[in-house]
Amino acid sequence: MSKKYVYFFGGGQSEGSASLKNLLGGKGANLADMAELGLPVPPGFTVTTEACSEYCTLGKESLFELIKPEIDDALARLEETTNKTFGKGPKPLLVSVRSGAAVSMPGMMDTVLNLGLNDETVEAMIALTNNERFVMDSYRRFIQMFGNVVMGMEHHDFETQLEKVKSATGKVLDTDLDVDDLKEVIKLYKAVVKEVSGEDFPTDPMEQLWRGMAAVFGSWNNPRAIKYRQINDIRSLWGTAVNVQLMVFGNSGDNSATGVAFTRDPSTGANEYFYGEYLINAQGEDVVAGIRTPQQITMAGSRVWAASQGVSEDVRVSEYPSLEETMPVVFAELDAIRDKLEKHYKDMQDLEFTIEDGTLYMLQTRNGKRTAQAAVKIAYDLETEGLISEKEAVLRVEPKQLDQLLHPVFVKESEVKAKTLTVGLPASPGAATGQVVFSADAAEAAKAEGRSVILCRVETSPEDIGGMDACSGILTARGGMTSHAAVVARGMGKCCVSGAGDISIDYKTGQFTVGDSVVKDGEWLSLNGSTGAVYLGKVDTVDPALDGAFGSIMELADKYRKIGVRTNADSPKDAEVAVKFGAEGIGLCRTEHMFFEGDRITSVRKLILVAEEVKELRKQILYAEGKEKAALEAKVAIPLSQYNEALAELLPLQREDFTGIFKALDGLPCTVRLLDPPLHEFLPHEVKGQEEMAKDMGLTLAKVRHLVDSLHEFNPMLGHRGCRLGITYPEVTQMQVRAIAEAAASVEGSKPEIMVPLVGNVKELESQKEIIVATIKEVEAETGKKIDVKIGTMIEVPRAAITADEIAEEAEFFSFGTNDLTQMGCGFSRDDAGKFLGDYVEKGIYEYDPFAVLDQSGIGKLVKYAVDAGRKTRPNIKLGICGEHGGDPASVEFCCNIGLDYVSCSPYRVPIARLAAAHAAIKAEK
Ligand code: PEP
Ligand code: MG
Repeated sequence: MSKKYVYFFGGGQSEGSASLKNLLGGKGANLADMAELGLPVPPGFTVTTEACSEYCTLGKESLFELIKPEIDDALARLEETTNKTFGKGPKPLLVSVRSGAAVSMPGMMDTVLNLGLNDETVEAMIALTNNERFVMDSYRRFIQMFGNVVMGMEHHDFETQLEKVKSATGKVLDTDLDVDDLKEVIKLYKAVVKEVSGEDFPTDPMEQLWRGMAAVFGSWNNPRAIKYRQINDIRSLWGTAVNVQLMVFGNSGDNSATGVAFTRDPSTGANEYFYGEYLINAQGEDVVAGIRTPQQITMAGSRVWAASQGVSEDVRVSEYPSLEETMPVVFAELDAIRDKLEKHYKDMQDLEFTIEDGTLYMLQTRNGKRTAQAAVKIAYDLETEGLISEKEAVLRVEPKQLDQLLHPVFVKESEVKAKTLTVGLPASPGAATGQVVFSADAAEAAKAEGRSVILCRVETSPEDIGGMDACSGILTARGGMTSHAAVVARGMGKCCVSGAGDISIDYKTGQFTVGDSVVKDGEWLSLNGSTGAVYLGKVDTVDPALDGAFGSIMELADKYRKIGVRTNADSPKDAEVAVKFGAEGIGLCRTEHMFFEGDRITSVRKLILVAEEVKELRKQILYAEGKEKAALEAKVAIPLSQYNEALAELLPLQREDFTGIFKALDGLPCTVRLLDPPLHEFLPHEVKGQEEMAKDMGLTLAKVRHLVDSLHEFNPMLGHRGCRLGITYPEVTQMQVRAIAEAAASVEGSKPEIMVPLVGNVKELESQKEIIVATIKEVEAETGKKIDVKIGTMIEVPRAAITADEIAEEAEFFSFGTNDLTQMGCGFSRDDAGKFLGDYVEKGIYEYDPFAVLDQSGIGKLVKYAVDAGRKTRPNIKLGICGEHGGDPASVEFCCNIGLDYVSCSPYRVPIARLAAAHAAIKAEK
């Protein structure tokens, strides 16, 4: 059987149904459904999304040849149902031609109304309606819309003509224009069409219809629709459907109106009254155009609106009455439909309606777009009202949407007006606005003065931590989704846009450039960390409110999820925040982040600067004898004492940190990772820092410089880092383990887990484990307390994944470090890949940035292999993930499906992970 491209609806019957959303688009499927339910839907037909797909691949001519017989049939059926004739009197059939994809993309694609009008049908319409003004108003609207949407003319081509007539006649509103004025407008419109497009306005209705349908299909691939799909990650749709429907007129007089409504408040989710707006004597586009002030549907809503606008009750009643007041019978009918539709679709609906001469018509219903706050409340309310099940309520809230609830967001109206400078990576969600500063010190100084700043850096390093904490948002020109800036900002719950490659920062002159724009120190900048947008100037922000519904939905999520959720946190404060968000422990405590607190960095630097020298001299002493040995021993004395001194300085500080964290966790487990990053990250690279170190250590500046230079590595991410540090400097491992064990001994019920980073060979783990076990024994002997510590490793080097069976002999747990595993598995530098990964994603080489969404078919296989191999050796091995993917919903689902015990993510993503885990579990049941 050949494909069916056209589906008719109307007269109480429908060829389509709600289940055919992919084929008929949301609008078409629901029009069919509403018609079937017996609701007042103007009859019409839907040309399928498959036809759009053919339009895009075969081209217009071939598609039209393919669908012409079906269009002719549908049009004839429409004429028969409506008792009107397309393109002719005495009762001309006029139609609307609207887009509608399977996923709603409000305002992104095109629509043409009043199609079928020409000089001849206009006369027939006047004779029929006896309302010349209405017909002329419809005609001028049609020319304008068709000219704009189909013929590619600009809005202002028409607006200028309209204004000419208004100013010549001294009229202000469109509704003030009389028949003669409108005739003049139509004349001017036709002239401008000819002048700009070079052709006469088409008068043949069939030509109008084909061109109208082509324009709607074509609008599927207009730049704004493509952008919208990209931003909202809408994929694998066939295209837009086209809905051709009998025109009903909200502009046929004062007993007519048009409006949009939501069955519940789309901003807050409240269900106090019917939320919506309408305009008397108007067509749909007038409601959104903002020229006239729309009125509220209900009296209650109208009163709330009036209070917010400072409009008195008298003025409200006379100038802005509600539909409930102006057309009570129609209102009651609409209110009943609201109830029916909500019960039918079991979700908040977004409705479009038109009232023509006192008769109500439904033009659309769809699940309404809503804020995260509304999504949570509506899901919870629908469940308590018994309309949906608990599991459905959980599935109704998109995990990613929760970001909006946990961070400040931009006020929409303010954001759309802002000037976009560039778009970087959406590294850490939320919204931030502040004055530009270029150094961490400047950010800290600004905070002390009470100023809000955006820290702009080429990239950040651990040295910037104070400034990152002090600023309201972070912008970097380099670095991907797992760059230092991104990881730290997410941990702090701070807005960050990273890898904004178009930006060129000049620290010397204190400015950055993007294209032609120059942004100087102190200028206002705003960042949207959820989209990556960078705006010039101030954009207003709001703090979203968390209500009881949030807690209830999260409780339901916990009831259904099967995987644990921990957090990546390095301080008692972060641990507390995470526990409040529902974290069940710490899955990754990066000990090095603590090294930048206060002035302890000096001790760390001292340790690093002398460690290598001590190691070298010790080696030489081992093979030396006599005088030479004595000389070497004398030589090592100072650096050795500084080495030991630094370790002794750090021990109590680390112990204090861990004590604080264990207390904050109150008996929840805590995976503490031993020192991991390349040492150069801690070194003073600027003269000021080097001078300080020289003074502190009694060395010359030249010596400090020499030491810093000697620690330079060409590829530090693959260099001296992770367990390699502990192997070279066992005393550092000893110190850290001692601090952990002593803290554990002092905090009743603490559950430390010591994790060795960057293991690729089981012998690395064996060697570190020996030190760990011995140190714990020492502390046990000293304190007289049994310290229960699990010892495990990160799996983040591909060799570790492949040899996981051997590693599991030594490890009681694995935590998948998918940041490094992605870096080393894909061979993409974490710090540099931001530059080109965008192109990769655009070209579909990787579906998503693999640092943000786990590359399941590649890196995921390594993880799965290691899970199976690890479990084979040690069936009860504990398995988790602590890479950034632990907070990404799709990756969480993968982790659930391969049977990990927990995911771990930054504190602000804990609720997202909890909800994503519940989604995964519920979907797996289906
Ligand atoms: C990882 O590599 O995934 C990880 C969690 O460690 P880090 O990001 O600190 O290298
Ligand atoms: Mg790592």
